[in-house]
Amino acid sequence: MLRDLISALYSGRRLWLKKAMAQEKILVVEDESDLREILKSNLAKEGYSVLTAKDGEAGLKLARSEAPDAIVLDLMLPGMDGLQVCRLLKRDTLTAGIPVLMATAKAEDVDVVTGLEVGADDYIVKPFSVRVLVARLRNALRRREGVGGVEGGVIKIRDLTIDSERHEVLLKGKPLDLTFTEFRVLSLLAGYPGRVFTRDQIVTSIHGESYPVTDRAVDVQIVGLRRKLGPRGESIETVRGVGYRFRDD
Ligand code: CA
Repeated sequence: MLRDLISALYSGRRLWLKKAMAQEKILVVEDESDLREILKSNLAKEGYSVLTAKDGEAGLKLARSEAPDAIVLDLMLPGMDGLQVCRLLKRDTLTAGIPVLMATAKAEDVDVVTGLEVGADDYIVKPFSVRVLVARLRNALRRREGVGGVEGGVIKIRDLTIDSERHEVLLKGKPLDLTFTEFRVLSLLAGYPGRVFTRDQIVTSIHGESYPVTDRAVDVQIVGLRRKLGPRGESIETVRGVGYRFRDD
């Protein structure tokens, strides 16, 4: 009996150790070999287990066989480009849930908008520091673990409370008088702090697909929201050429 107990304790400890030591696996898809190696060694230093692929086809294969926890995906790849890779990843149930962080050469590229709309979780502009990349990865991994989101709950960010069931927003304990649409926009953005949403994604989340709303209409909602939030409205950031995000701080 004692032996059973010791054995149980031992296996429990082993399990705990395994859990504590479980490394998150990151797949880096990047065609420039220097950058690929830099990312690999730096992410490894941060404690991640790193897989690399030099083109989209190899990246897709690894994503399916290795089930990484997140993917850093270069947009400009030879052959199949990053957008196409992202589209295929998100279409496949095996890989659809893996957060994708796109790496792009230009900030205001229309590709960023397209990338977010085909399911990328975030993007980072080249050249970027490893520190920033790691911060973005941590955000993406955290979101994947279900932090944030508006389903059935209450979002609390410092002095702001959004109760999706009661359809109520409190700022410093005082209720705000928001329209239905403003409430939905705020819930979406604040539910995923740090994540950029394109105007199309905002419209879709409010009204469903193919609802005829212009980009301008989204901007008008944001203006109204910011006004009602007062100084706290600064948390809603305009990401030029892309959309909006709720600041993650
Ligand atoms: Ca490239």
